Amino acid sequence: MTVAVVGAGVVGLCTALEAQRKGYQVTLIDRDAPGLGASFGNAGYLATELIDPLSTPKTLRAALSMWLNPHGPLALPLAYLHRLLPWLVRFVAAAHPHTAANYREALHRLNRAAVPAWQRCLADIGATEQLIQSGYLLVWESADKLEDAKAHGRYLTQWGIRTELVSGAALRRMEPELAEGVSHALFFPDASQVREPYQLCMQLFSAFQARGGQYIQQAVNALSPEDRGVTLQTPSASLMFDHAIICTGAWSKQLLQSVDLQVPLEAERGYHLTIEAKHIKLNHPIGSAERRFVMSPLDSGLRVVGITELGGLALKPIKRRFDSLRHHCRKLLPTLNDPSLEISEWMGHRPTLPDSLPVIDRHPGHSHLLFAFGHQHLGLTQAAISAEMVVSLMAGKPQAVDPLPFRVDRF
Ligand SMILES: Cc1cc2nc3c(=O)[nH]c(=O)nc-3n(C[C@H](O)[C@H](O)[C@H](O)COP(=O)(O)OP(=O)(O)OC[C@H]3O[C@@H](n4cnc5c(N)ncnc54)[C@H](O)[C@@H]3O)c2cc1C
Repeated sequence: MTVAVVGAGVVGLCTALEAQRKGYQVTLIDRDAPGLGASFGNAGYLATELIDPLSTPKTLRAALSMWLNPHGPLALPLAYLHRLLPWLVRFVAAAHPHTAANYREALHRLNRAAVPAWQRCLADIGATEQLIQSGYLLVWESADKLEDAKAHGRYLTQWGIRTELVSGAALRRMEPELAEGVSHALFFPDASQVREPYQLCMQLFSAFQARGGQYIQQAVNALSPEDRGVTLQTPSASLMFDHAIICTGAWSKQLLQSVDLQVPLEAERGYHLTIEAKHIKLNHPIGSAERRFVMSPLDSGLRVVGITELGGLALKPIKRRFDSLRHHCRKLLPTLNDPSLEISEWMGHRPTLPDSLPVIDRHPGHSHLLFAFGHQHLGLTQAAISAEMVVSLMAGKPQAVDPLPFRVDRF
């Protein structure tokens, strides 16, 4: 049986490999080289503790002050606001406590299965060294927010997520480079990261090719599902496969329109800086609870990621967002206060649906056409488990996680 996987980000790469493992003859198609979408520049952190949907009463209450703060984590370019409104309305509605509880439950189930799925995937391709049990520190600068940290720890304990409160000398021993102004932290001892997200994509791709996988660098412009398979329209050819799985991240909405599916998918633009490794060494990924950004030690250097900019797919990166990331990381790591540092800048598109859940499903009217996209801030975390789920669905096998919340026609 032949299958086309469209989109060679981390989700598509994991999916292509998983389909090969199950005996399919796989062609991977991307308009670009593999791993250059959102999967290129993420923080490499497997954020399994992020079980809250993005839309909660708490985040909505904080949204205005985050937006008005010039270095704040939320940006809504005014020129895009009118196009964003329908998505925003759904996003706000998703904060309703009853629905949010269902989304939290679904995210928790997916995240709980995420690291074991990565372990299986990496063991299979001989790349287990990519995954490190690094632990994670979530830090607060305001000493009067000690109770916030304790409450967050208690909340996560209810979900089986272990945390330890650390402060003072113990915190300095764990991370000697942290600014004196950092008051306390929650340590997540079980948290994991990958060594280098782009290198991971390349390892997945090499394994895929070594197993006979075909790569076609072409844009797919339209999908035509038929009784016995799916035809993909590229600028130069019509390609027919027994099955097709669409893993096109933030660009999936248009392709789904070609098969009469409307999904309220938005691109959450995120920014990164990568600071050459010789300048600083952190022992763990570190997130700031107050500034809402993450610093992650990778093989290529210290990666600083943050900002949620709801600005669509077309807008160019906005320079001052990089300055905001510089501002925040210098506050937490004073050794970075050196203008001569070599720093690279990047912006990518997180694929986000209003309920914060991905789509992992098949077309309701065409069983040969399947989907795995919409993983918001958690696409690296959830890639391997999503791949297992969508390929099980294609093969008519039971799924490791209840698939109901991830239906494509839920909107
Ligand atoms: C700054 C930042 C930091 C992040 N940090 C983390 C993190 O630490 N942990 C985590 O879990 N997640 C993180 N994320 C989120 C994560 O990176 C994404 O959710 C994930 O990479 C999405 O993967 P994907 O394969 O779905 O999409 P992508 O990697 O964007 O891949 C989609 C691919 O589809 C291709 N494509 C699109 N349309 C077409 C078409 N019509 N025809 C052919 N090809 C097409 C694109 O070229 C692209 O290669 C972060 C994101 C950002 C922006």
